[in-house]
Amino acid sequence: MSGSSNDPAVPTPSLPAFGFESTLADEVPGVTLPWQGAHAPDPRVLILNDGLARSLALDPASLRTPEGAGVLSGSIPPAETATVAMAYAGHQFGNFQPLLGDGRALLLGELRDDRGSRVDLHLKGSGATPFSRGGDGRAVVGAMLREYLISEAMHALNIPTTRSLAVVTTGEQVLREGGPQLGAVLARVASSHLRVGTFEFAARREGLAQTLADYAVARHYPELVERAPEDRYLAFFEAVVEAQAALVAQWMSVGFVHGVMNTDNTTISGETIDYGPCAFLDAYDPATVFSSIDHGGRYAYGNQPAVLGWNLARFGETLLPLVNSTPDTAITALTAVLDTYGDRYRHHYAAAMALKLGLADDAMDAALVDDLHRLLTDHRADWTLTFRALAENLRGNSEPFDALVPPDASRNWLERWRTAVSVRAQDFSSVADDMDRVNPAYIPRNHLVDAALNAATEGDLEPFERLLDVVTSPFDRRDNWSDYALPAPENFSAGFQTFCGT
Ligand code: AMP
Ligand code: MG
Repeated sequence: MSGSSNDPAVPTPSLPAFGFESTLADEVPGVTLPWQGAHAPDPRVLILNDGLARSLALDPASLRTPEGAGVLSGSIPPAETATVAMAYAGHQFGNFQPLLGDGRALLLGELRDDRGSRVDLHLKGSGATPFSRGGDGRAVVGAMLREYLISEAMHALNIPTTRSLAVVTTGEQVLREGGPQLGAVLARVASSHLRVGTFEFAARREGLAQTLADYAVARHYPELVERAPEDRYLAFFEAVVEAQAALVAQWMSVGFVHGVMNTDNTTISGETIDYGPCAFLDAYDPATVFSSIDHGGRYAYGNQPAVLGWNLARFGETLLPLVNSTPDTAITALTAVLDTYGDRYRHHYAAAMALKLGLADDAMDAALVDDLHRLLTDHRADWTLTFRALAENLRGNSEPFDALVPPDASRNWLERWRTAVSVRAQDFSSVADDMDRVNPAYIPRNHLVDAALNAATEGDLEPFERLLDVVTSPFDRRDNWSDYALPAPENFSAGFQTFCGT
């Protein structure tokens, strides 16, 4: 690499001190490939998450310097560690791809967060790698700001997710279908980038699955390290099934549609990852698909729990030889755990819905939720507005919910629900306040995201920054934010599509 440190004529730039470690590359080299980012002609920090930087003991000011932007774009290698591209396989729309991997991404290194937990700092859009499969290795500013916004919104909604540290523009034009766009790199933070697809890659290489599983257990489920080998990997599977069941229940409860639930986009940690064509529901409809590439509706809103079960089955298959050397015994054991997935999911979803509806867990009856779903579907009611409107109904203001579902249709359901609420508490207004603490007033609504990204692409970041402020305080209703709570105009939603991989 550059010999600048040996050349007195070229001063060594003062790189920010990251304090990177590289335990994955050191302990599981079989899933990493030493690699460096592409040159960026003019890296500049477009947006930086100061709070997240500080929580990683990084100095925001030094990240904003040309050297900081250089490192965050992948253009300047960080001092302490060798950067790597990660290898993985994956089932994409159900079809197995034996080699995917970081085709436009780079793992810069590992840091500690403010709770002492190890996290990855990873770049997306940092240039082609041996995994690029003909792709250009680049990303553009609109798509990276989109991931930044939606991942930070998810975090604010208390949903496990990768976080966004920065978007750095590269100073380069990147060719895309609609014409050239400004290149950009997203710097993101994750509790790791281990995916079901990483295990699918490792399972096809002698000995690698066990090394990877031991690493993943120690990093994500350290309480299992001491387990005897004969139940450690089964317990690991169970822990991932549980974490992912809880995650997808959270997605369903806020109306999040991931859009590309391929196995390479399903984490071992239970964090949401890879925000491509994702979007939030407006009108409640299980068949909702936003992604332009999801022709069959495989990843429709209402299919997400089932698809996750399918992905977990693929994950379980990679652990077969670790769980037991006798295949039938291993299959029986893993299947028994996989069979608990449905109940785990239903339990988490019911608990989330109980909170959303102001009900105690034991006052939750599944028919109440099913009937609400039916009402909302019949009347194309907005999922997010529904729960804030129900809280208003408890406060004696029936207008907002009546505007979503006509009173003639909702009377019976409202009566059943209010009776269920009264089992828990006589004081409806305090229940309404509890509901408002879990039901967002603001989500990244598609028309607002679109407008903010279009403006940002034209060079005006202000609408984006305002929207980011709103969606990262999703529960605090403010009078001057009322436009942000409104659903999209009907003519916008009807044809709305999201595009991925850009
Ligand atoms: P995703 O749809 O973002 O989960 O990506 C699926 C696979 O395609 C991953 O292996 C990515 O690294 C790869 N990929 C996506 N976009 C590009 C690109 N522009 N250049 C190279 N590889 C890409
Ligand atoms: Mg991906």
